[in-house]
Amino acid sequence: MTEEFIASIAVRVARDVAHVKDWKVSLTDASSSPFLQEVGQRRFSNAIGLEHHGSRRLLIVFFQGEDICEQTREGLDQLQDVIVETELRAWPPCPIHGHVLVPELTSDELYWICPEDGELRMKVGSL
Ligand SMILES: [Zn+2]
Repeated sequence: MTEEFIASIAVRVARDVAHVKDWKVSLTDASSSPFLQEVGQRRFSNAIGLEHHGSRRLLIVFFQGEDICEQTREGLDQLQDVIVETELRAWPPCPIHGHVLVPELTSDELYWICPEDGELRMKVGSL
């Protein structure tokens, strides 16, 4: 389930990021890059890469045996920070207030939510 879940997140985040010029998201299978298989003492199997103009800007690593939902939320947080810092604008923007939306995982669904009123704005992958 885990690898499929990560792959599905990568696809959905890639869909959202596709709207921002020059950015690209890809799924890295660690088994094809042995040096990626261990970070410190923690093993992981997959990672989502974020590229800008073809160069790697972020690698979101998913460690085996750790809370996948928490890792997903943190990873999206980081990805969003990198894009916002580079683009110098809110991404993704709240349609009501204009500030950035934050990633939130509720039961089985991933959303971008408004940090001010806590309302679900859109599913990740549907920007
Ligand atoms: Zn808002």
